[in-house]
Amino acid sequence: PPFPLRMEGRVISGFGRGSKELGIPTANLPVDASATPWISDFKSGVYFGWASLQLPASSPKTATTTPSTTTNNGFTVYPMVMSIGYNPFYRNTVRSAEVHVLHSFAADFYGAPMRLLIAGFIREEKDYAGLEALIADINFDCEVARASLARPAWTPRELSNGSSSSS
Ligand code: ADP
Ligand code: MG
Repeated sequence: PPFPLRMEGRVISGFGRGSKELGIPTANLPVDASATPWISDFKSGVYFGWASLQLPASSPKTATTTPSTTTNNGFTVYPMVMSIGYNPFYRNTVRSAEVHVLHSFAADFYGAPMRLLIAGFIREEKDYAGLEALIADINFDCEVARASLARPAWTPRELSNGSSSSS
């Protein structure tokens, strides 16, 4: 199907490999073909887009370093980079959908409702000889996502009014 693609659900626990310790936590969503019909035959890979999150009320908001807007229903929109696939490096047997939100949060948000607008494709899944090469590629994916989303054509109209995207 054509971009943008939508996906939503509550953030679940992932594989617990300590992505957070590597500086790249990924909020996992259930891969459920009944809720997300396009996902079953969707190409695995790295994608970029927007994540809209309804954070728990107790969660303190940190200083905003990326463009974001709080909408009237309590959702906040952030840029994101995500992987859909088997993560060959980890030899997974089930597909996962995991989102690295390009924002620094003061607290975890397991269980929070998250809505994704997937805007485009970055690259195919790759296997890696080592963790360092994997991390380097993910950091580069983040730059590609930021640069792509900063272009006016990728920015939803609601976000382009008033909020700066100079960072
Ligand atoms: P898991 O294996 O349970 O997914 P991770 O190490 O990938 O563990 O951490 C993911 C969790 O970290 C998310 O579910 C979320 O609650 C939290 N988190 C904090 N900051 C971010 C962020 N910028 N992007 C994604 N998740 C984040
Ligand atoms: Mg994760």
